[in-house]
Amino acid sequence: ATEVTLDQLAAWLRRFAEIVEQNKAYLTDLDSAIGDADHGANMARGTAAVVTHLDEANTVDALLKKAGMTLVSTVGGTSGPLYGTLLMKMGMATGAVTELSGEEFSKAFHAGLEGLIARGKTELGDKTMVDALTPAIEAFDAALADGADVHAATESAAKAAAAGRDATTPLVARKGRASYLGERSAGHMDPGATSSTYLFDALAEAIGT
Ligand code: ADP
Ligand code: MG
Ligand code: MG
Repeated sequence: ATEVTLDQLAAWLRRFAEIVEQNKAYLTDLDSAIGDADHGANMARGTAAVVTHLDEANTVDALLKKAGMTLVSTVGGTSGPLYGTLLMKMGMATGAVTELSGEEFSKAFHAGLEGLIARGKTELGDKTMVDALTPAIEAFDAALADGADVHAATESAAKAAAAGRDATTPLVARKGRASYLGERSAGHMDPGATSSTYLFDALAEAIGT
């Protein structure tokens, strides 16, 4: 398909919540190695709250803004305001529509990522969620430019997110709690980059159905 519908976007956020819930203990294990062992609980609480509001929205912008605000207000950890900003800025970039073309979706992703990077004062290579999100969005764009449909583009994005996540393992963290460990943060996969990979796994699954 060439468009992403409101229903598919709602299915995306619902699937994200399920994958986070299924991997809650794993995310917490990753965060216990280089953080404070709450990333699984933080994300499970936030994404479950998002799911309770999905039926309220009749437009893409309302859906994404509400989801973002819910994450900001329920997650508590650093990751909540960052994921919240990603979704709120995406919503602010789409307008009151009920579907998005691949190009419009890409524009929203870029607005969201820019907002997250500005809020986190971070850059690529700091060993954060940005290290999974950035290559995912780049791969999405590259696939569309190659003539892929939106579903195929999300599958490329999910693969690139996973590669970006894996590449965080050897890095020394420069942002967030993991940065307090300095060199000792190397050798561990970043929890936020891992949950960001689930965001794209969920998207590929939701759009494929
Ligand atoms: P907290 O560190 O407050 O306990 P979480 O454990 O929920 O919050 O989230 C930790 C994740 O947040 C990290 O693995 C990292 O990916 C991400 N993160 C932390 N600080 C930043 C930042 N400044 N910019 C982007 N992502 C960040
Ligand atoms: Mg934590
Ligand atoms: Mg915490």
